[in-house]
Amino acid sequence: MATVALKDLKKSFGKTEVIHGVDMEIADGEFIVIVGPSGCGKSTLLRMVAGLETVTGGEVEIGGRPVNHVEPMDRDIAMVFQNYALYPHMSVFDNMAYGLKIAKVPKPEIAARVETAARLLQLEPFLKRKPRELSGGQRQRVAMGRAIVRKPAVFLFDEPLSNLDAKLRVQMRLEIKALQRELGVTSLYVTHDQIEAMTLADRMIVMNAGRADQIGAPLEVYADPQTAFVAGFIGSPPTNFLDADMLDAGPAGAQLGIRPEHLRLAEPGRVRAQIANAEALGAETLLHLRMADGTQVTVRQDAGTPIPEEGSRAGLDWDDAQAMLFDAEGRRL
Ligand code: ADP
Ligand code: MG
Repeated sequence: MATVALKDLKKSFGKTEVIHGVDMEIADGEFIVIVGPSGCGKSTLLRMVAGLETVTGGEVEIGGRPVNHVEPMDRDIAMVFQNYALYPHMSVFDNMAYGLKIAKVPKPEIAARVETAARLLQLEPFLKRKPRELSGGQRQRVAMGRAIVRKPAVFLFDEPLSNLDAKLRVQMRLEIKALQRELGVTSLYVTHDQIEAMTLADRMIVMNAGRADQIGAPLEVYADPQTAFVAGFIGSPPTNFLDADMLDAGPAGAQLGIRPEHLRLAEPGRVRAQIANAEALGAETLLHLRMADGTQVTVRQDAGTPIPEEGSRAGLDWDDAQAMLFDAEGRRL
């Protein structure tokens, strides 16, 4: 197990800088999720930790040791990718054992490690099968197993659940969390899925166009986003943004961010809007409204609350303590 440090880490491809200086200290055994939309630099960041991309500026340290010039195989890391890249002609056992064979680990030791991993992952009955004879979830577990048998100091995951259907994703998410807790191995996990980030992370790093907009525990980030980008990206449905000028609520150019659960229908309310549609989801209802200037907002209300008719007009209100103010550049005021 090991700490990981990113120190003013930068990456350029040719003349284009895509990572603009990321700083983070990761504790031993911590589960870190790197989250953000497609193209924001998550994989590039992870690949620099893995040693699969060179570092343009700054430093990566693993276990206190600078590793910018250390080969991937000497970094004591194991990586799990989106496409599990299993060898189709090899059995589950051989797939899991392969890296150890290459590293010339003695055969009895290999067998013991694969058996332990197979037990952890409930893959014991499948060790003789070929990958094509497994379900998607089982293949995912073999990819995990291949990482576990290496006994690395750090796990690196790049969207490992993206190829699974929604239900299996939830199940595998729980398994990965439990496994990481049990093994206590420092982990960096990349995803574009903010729910995955919220549920897996000890701390998450929210990336926005090559920058770390915010680093913190999931509920901390949710409750106290430092930028409009983070407020909009973390949480579903996303935070509503209203023009603060119109409401006399803040300095010129500022935006007011209010989460859907913090908006309510009220008469006459502070602003008026038309109910565009109502999604009754059982436990809750999402009301989508449109204001006169075209701004769309979402209100989340409990199932018991009456649902207004589509097309009708309504007022909106909120508690000022729950409204977030952002400047023209999107920084929290
Ligand atoms: P993410 O994983 O968040 O979707 P990436 O880290 O893959 O994003 O990419 C970040 C940015 O770097 C993107 O604009 C992408 O086009 C660019 N990029 C990634 N890899 C390369 C490469 N090998 N050459 C040039 N540009 C790249
Ligand atoms: Mg990626």
